[in-house]
Amino acid sequence: MSNQYVSRVVETLKKRYPGEAEFHQAATEVLDSLTPVIKKNKEIEQAGILERITEPERQIIFRVPWVDDSGKVQVNRGMRIQYNSALGPYKGGIRFHPSVNTSIIKFLGFEQIFKNSLTGLMMGGGKGGADFDPKGKSDNEVMRFCQSFMTELYRHIDADTDVPAGDIGVGAREIGYMFGQYKRIKNIYHGILTGKGLLYGGSLARTEATGYGCVYFCEEMLKDRKSSFEKKNVVVSGSGNVAIYAAQKAMSLGAKVIAMSDSSGYVYDANGIKLDVVKRLKEVERKRISEYAKEVKSAKFKDGCSGIWTIPCDIALPSATQNELDEKAAQTLIKNGCVAVAEGANMPSTPEAVKVFLDAKIAYGPGKAANAGGVATSGLEMAQNSQRLSWTFDEVDTKLHQIMVNIHETAKNAAKEYNTPGNLVNGANIAGFLKVAKAMIAHGVV
Ligand code: NDP
Repeated sequence: MSNQYVSRVVETLKKRYPGEAEFHQAATEVLDSLTPVIKKNKEIEQAGILERITEPERQIIFRVPWVDDSGKVQVNRGMRIQYNSALGPYKGGIRFHPSVNTSIIKFLGFEQIFKNSLTGLMMGGGKGGADFDPKGKSDNEVMRFCQSFMTELYRHIDADTDVPAGDIGVGAREIGYMFGQYKRIKNIYHGILTGKGLLYGGSLARTEATGYGCVYFCEEMLKDRKSSFEKKNVVVSGSGNVAIYAAQKAMSLGAKVIAMSDSSGYVYDANGIKLDVVKRLKEVERKRISEYAKEVKSAKFKDGCSGIWTIPCDIALPSATQNELDEKAAQTLIKNGCVAVAEGANMPSTPEAVKVFLDAKIAYGPGKAANAGGVATSGLEMAQNSQRLSWTFDEVDTKLHQIMVNIHETAKNAAKEYNTPGNLVNGANIAGFLKVAKAMIAHGVV
């Protein structure tokens, strides 16, 4: 469903930014679901909201030179896209992965605007990253890279301007190095990053937040269908931050997680994945998931990460990366009896896969709603930093849980109000958009 205004804006974006496939995909999905809102609120077109909301307020692209362990100079490309500040300081992660380019960072930054709006906290949207691959690098190389990255980034961020966090390839180690460099350059102890270590301003439960939040969201979808995680077989793609804690929470609610993956392949363990082994391999030893099958005899490793979707399961939690689950994988999941998909990753399902889930009327939670727990808890970290206080794990987890319940309710109600009951893609896009659009209109043409 699309109207002329939406089509015109999408066409302009495609002409202006040729080759940015992921950005076109994210923008088209959001704008298409806004058609009924635009028909109802004429002011949106008059105020040029779609043209403005799709164009980042600011994009910073910079050189990141660093010296590797052999003494050779390496150069990467860093960027920060400050997308929209209508609701608060720009907020969104930093990704270090060889695939990083403007299309990927723009799609992530664009999604972040609506996700952050859904949390109910005062946060604008942004995203950043570099085409740097931390895999296989020594700690010293990663430190030198992070320091060089921050030596440019520091002048564009501040606790009330732009507060980055982690994402793929950026965990506690990288955040620590970037925080240290910021503090050294500016001589200010500000909460300019979230996902910090607990000793220097991090929030309890931030590490767990995205994965836990995704499961809390899924639990709400299941409750609406008089179901739960109890005794369900769950497949979780990825074995990074989001995947590990999604698996942990699903298990604590009585589910059995039978498969996890990384970019090289997946492990299947009918007895249930031993999460302590995955955590040690991934968080401590930084090894490949294939090592799991060498240690745990009941498990099998298979090459190729997309094969994970052929494993019959009740619930799928895609938590690795964008477009990891295509139409064929979606059809296989449905055929094998999958009743719920909640996205821990950003845009892991292709548009064709999303259509399969919506047509099958299974419980489907899109990433911008289902994985909003990470940024929500980053918002809670910012609040604690401003107060110079630390809340307990239970306090943060309780707030996170309530936020996820609210996001589900908000998306569900918006879907109903705009005549697509049960369609949480439309619901999340519409509810997230309306708040930002109203704030933008209130701020005048800026
Ligand atoms: P991590 O770097 O901790 O883990 C990423 C995982 O995904 C790894 O297992 C990695 O495998 C796998 N992966 C990465 N790229 C690919 C690829 N091209 N194909 C297959 N697998 C891949 O990242 P996070 O867990 O933080 O992020 C995962 C997803 O969740 C991303 O989409 C991110 O944007 C999203 N997200 C993260 C949030 C957070 O708080 N961290 C918040 C909200 C969303 P390998 O090690 O082999 O590369």
